[in-house]
Amino acid sequence: MHVNIEKTKEYYHAITDSLLCDCGYCRSYRLQVKSAFSEVAEYLESLGIDIEKPLETSPLEPDEAGMLEYCCCQYIVFGKCEAGYHHTIDNVKFRIATSYPGTGIEQEHFVLEFFPIQLKYIG
Ligand SMILES: [Zn+2]
Repeated sequence: MHVNIEKTKEYYHAITDSLLCDCGYCRSYRLQVKSAFSEVAEYLESLGIDIEKPLETSPLEPDEAGMLEYCCCQYIVFGKCEAGYHHTIDNVKFRIATSYPGTGIEQEHFVLEFFPIQLKYIG
């Protein structure tokens, strides 16, 4: 994996709150993920990624206890990465995404995804 960390950092710095989705699933994620998955957050930070600014998350419905599982969390990264990349932190698995929303970015980049992430739904 050859990440342009400076460029990735700049990209995340430029994303302001007003550009982020304000639905309950996304708010629950942003408010909790960094503290609940601090090792994942640190790994992303080492690549220049801000865990609170995902490209896309795919939440399932909250269960009876109000726990919500995100089966996929995707992030833009500048640079390139071999298709066979994988990484694991505890039970969270990382890989290169092959299906994701259009990024509108022309410079060399890829989309990193990891799963599963479980958090309390706080609306
Ligand atoms: Zn949302």
